[in-house]
Amino acid sequence: MVSEWLQNLMIEYNSISLEKKESYSSLIQMPGIIFEKLIKWALENLPDEILVGFDPNWDRPHLPEVDEIFLFQKNRKQLFAGEGYIIGEPNLVNRGDSFSVHHIPEEWTDDFFAVDRGPRGGRFTHWLHTHPNAVAIPSGADADAAQYTEGIDMILGIQFSPEGMYPWFDEVEGERRPLIDRNKEAVGNFSTGHLVHGLEVIAYHRSGVGINVIFVDENNYPYGWENFILEE
Ligand SMILES: [Zn+2]
Repeated sequence: MVSEWLQNLMIEYNSISLEKKESYSSLIQMPGIIFEKLIKWALENLPDEILVGFDPNWDRPHLPEVDEIFLFQKNRKQLFAGEGYIIGEPNLVNRGDSFSVHHIPEEWTDDFFAVDRGPRGGRFTHWLHTHPNAVAIPSGADADAAQYTEGIDMILGIQFSPEGMYPWFDEVEGERRPLIDRNKEAVGNFSTGHLVHGLEVIAYHRSGVGINVIFVDENNYPYGWENFILEE
């Protein structure tokens, strides 16, 4: 069961994803239960960034009625690997600073990774890395690493306290997609002793186009679905 504060944030985020659907070429669906796990891992590995790999869950195709409402461009060619399938289980692959996080350890690359598959190896379809106390906007190193991704790249920005060595950094140009809670300032309390004040998530394809993120529940419906179908 996903925490209620996070469910509320995902409802708000999904409603913005719906509002902004015309800005996106395609969409990706992430289970809320996985998202909650990612936030926990991010906090457990501070002050490092973490790199997480995913494959599509081939048993969980998107529900047609969900894509019908959230996809703006229909009947177009497939843009990325795993498109149309909900993201599968996360795999924590690496931790490090904003550069080294993309260069996975040798024990991961031995034998089964070809050199021409990039610094992260081609093992997973999709990748996500974190920006502790920084906005979710790709750096130059992020854009370079994404050139080898078959699926999509995601960034999770987390604003938390105590800040430790990272005061909140937001002086970056780019389209931001925060998860907003209108009522509370601190939104989540974690066993690591951190308070989470803000989250933001973006996804993009290596061609540079933005991918819309939709958070879905265990039944493959977006959080807030009842409201969205009433509005449409
Ligand atoms: Zn980054």
